[in-house]
Amino acid sequence: MRCKAALVPKMGLDVVVEEVELAEPEAYEVRLKVMTCTICHSDIHAFKGEHGAYEGPGMAGHEIAGIVDICGAKVTYVKPGDRVLCTEVRQGCGTCDQCLHDRHWFCENLPPMTFRLPSPYTRLNGEVCIQTCSGASGFAEYTNAHEAMLCKLDDDIPFEIGSALACGFMSGFGAVLNRCRIKPGESFAVTGCGGVGLSAIMGARFSGAIPIIAIDTMDSKLEAAVKFGATHTVNPKKCDAVEEVIKITRGYGVDHSLVAVAGNGIKKMTFDLTAGYGQMVIVGHELKENEWLDYINAWDVLAGKRITGSVMGAVTLRRDIPKYMDMYRRGLIDIDSLLTHRFPLERIKEALEDSMKGALKNVVVIGGAK
Ligand SMILES: [Zn+2]
Ligand SMILES: [Zn+2]
Repeated sequence: MRCKAALVPKMGLDVVVEEVELAEPEAYEVRLKVMTCTICHSDIHAFKGEHGAYEGPGMAGHEIAGIVDICGAKVTYVKPGDRVLCTEVRQGCGTCDQCLHDRHWFCENLPPMTFRLPSPYTRLNGEVCIQTCSGASGFAEYTNAHEAMLCKLDDDIPFEIGSALACGFMSGFGAVLNRCRIKPGESFAVTGCGGVGLSAIMGARFSGAIPIIAIDTMDSKLEAAVKFGATHTVNPKKCDAVEEVIKITRGYGVDHSLVAVAGNGIKKMTFDLTAGYGQMVIVGHELKENEWLDYINAWDVLAGKRITGSVMGAVTLRRDIPKYMDMYRRGLIDIDSLLTHRFPLERIKEALEDSMKGALKNVVVIGGAK
């Protein structure tokens, strides 16, 4: 079918919106009518080739909410008309050894993720577009997705909320619940207070952490952090962040820290403000070649200090998203305040530029936000 889609003619951020041809969905795929797709910094990195260089036109958008339009012959989870969110995390088969151990990321029966592989979209000049950041492209009127990437969205959950849950929120909140596993009363610090960092703060508050320390170089983000539940704010431009956190935690450092922004210096700082028996969870990252943690000495970990990481909040898609919808409904998490501005697909370039300037989460409204 023909539909409108946003793409970059070559690696970079010169996004254009044009008519493209979308192939029919394959057996395990659905065609989605995209309602909203929120912007994630991963989309920006992916368009620019920072998740890996690519040749030819590129497409992105992985925080998708929409309505199932048609289903491939082997799809069983949804039917046409179902409201869904669609994300990079896939629901595993549920029966293989990895799924039985709650490691859906390693499911033995899912196809590999399609980073930088040909997408089902072709430009009218015949060029095949590359999918730069997931198995679907949400900055388009329609997209095809494997059914494992879908989670049903309850009728009362607006599409734009579903979109925000689909990556940004779960990457922070999920990382805290599934990786940090804070006990009530333990201390927590997050470096980077964008959408992921603020969602991590919501997770820390939900888990009963005290204090909750927000660290960022932008005062506006620190103000937002307080609204989401931070008890203390630290701006590394104005003080020695490590010293400050050590002081707040009575000389110990935090039990749990989470890195929600890229930059290796930030990881060293966060490692140093984590207690000798604490744990640092890495979420934010940049190019692999810049991410060696060469400052760690074996003595640093002798007392039990740990470093681990989390991709997409380590969520199990169809277990965790229904819980998040319920928390949203009951006012236990605030997704509305994460959404900054709404843009139509035609103005996506502006939306991306605004995101780079610090907007928390911009929504590209395609079929409708509600
Ligand atoms: Zn994302
Ligand atoms: Zn499996």
